[in-house]
Amino acid sequence: MTPTRRRPGGAPRLTARPSTGLPELTDEERIRYGRHLALPDVGLEGQRRLKAARALIVGTGGLGAPAALYLAAAGVGTIGLVDFDRVEASNLQRQVLFATADIGRSKLDASTERLRALNPNVTLVRHEGELDAGNILDVLASYDILLDGTDNFPSRYLINDACVRLGRPDVFGSVYRFEGQVSVFAPPAGPCYRCLFPEPPPAEAVPSCAEGGVLGLLPGVVGTIQATEALKVLLGIGSPLVGRLLLYDALEMRFRELEIRRDPDCSRCSPRHRSDPLTEVVLAPAVGDPAQDLEIGAEELDRALRGPAPPLLVDVREPGEFAEGHLDGARLIPLGELAGHADELRGAVPVVLYCQMGGRSGRGARLLRDAGLTTARSLKGGLRAYRARLPRAGGNDVRTPRGAARGRSSR
Ligand SMILES: [Zn+2]
Repeated sequence: MTPTRRRPGGAPRLTARPSTGLPELTDEERIRYGRHLALPDVGLEGQRRLKAARALIVGTGGLGAPAALYLAAAGVGTIGLVDFDRVEASNLQRQVLFATADIGRSKLDASTERLRALNPNVTLVRHEGELDAGNILDVLASYDILLDGTDNFPSRYLINDACVRLGRPDVFGSVYRFEGQVSVFAPPAGPCYRCLFPEPPPAEAVPSCAEGGVLGLLPGVVGTIQATEALKVLLGIGSPLVGRLLLYDALEMRFRELEIRRDPDCSRCSPRHRSDPLTEVVLAPAVGDPAQDLEIGAEELDRALRGPAPPLLVDVREPGEFAEGHLDGARLIPLGELAGHADELRGAVPVVLYCQMGGRSGRGARLLRDAGLTTARSLKGGLRAYRARLPRAGGNDVRTPRGAARGRSSR
């Protein structure tokens, strides 16, 4: 059977697998996927394509959760899941893979259990830990497509660069407050993420969802659109969001679309850069910031905390975030209240501020320096980086209410 609306042309990997050698469906699968088999654009051959397909979902949070549920339900044969987080109470408002009883469990444990219960025919591959420039190509190489469910710029650039390098479509989604964005980056058929955003923003210009908030079902809508796009690409049907950035405004209930074009000089997907080695993007401090030493790395902080004159740790997140887990001995002073505490912090010990990702604490450290605390510093990359670099950092590990390590890789 030939799908009736297969997109003509397109890039390698934007066309579906060849029809030869596809796995057969079992009787149980023919019943389970009956509504797909009835669809002219899917049918038996399309369902066999899905069974042969391999999709990698990075982050099992707000975006990854609906994407994983729908791809598993649809019968995508192999689904890889990347995460290093544990389930927190504040995840449950939007991360629909997890139940209340999962709080404190590893997200990979909880999500694979849930997905296996949904569809035991799907092979689930666990990738525990964080993707970095050293491992992402090895992980991605065996997949047909990647769904980006991360919530931070360094991960998005790294994912984009790896997808360009290996020629895999990058199904991108992002959410903030009431608005979401979705696109499919698939050079040479369309632009890559760097064609759209050539440079990452400075760290402090990036508010996190923990700070800015997000409507719980917003990532549900965006993640479901990502899953839709992934299925279309794997089936080779319809018109994927290649060269188009879909903007969703939940408050106005309005979808808009921006045409995005390939940058012929793109620092990643132009022919002369496509094979450049992967590097990890580091968010730069704000322009004009003279303080090179404004930030302290996770390892350096760990050494300082074990040293003879440990710094005073100040957690500048909100009380709810603090309650879910913080560094041992840290004092809670939300960023909005920091200025009022500058005098009392002006003691002898150096102060190290931290937050989830390093954005708020960077602003806080600058604020304290302006107030005369010239040694105030910010933990680079926040708790997330600390947890990733020092997963078992002795007495200063990050704790959840159940004593488990925490971090955050996805919304
Ligand atoms: Zn590009």
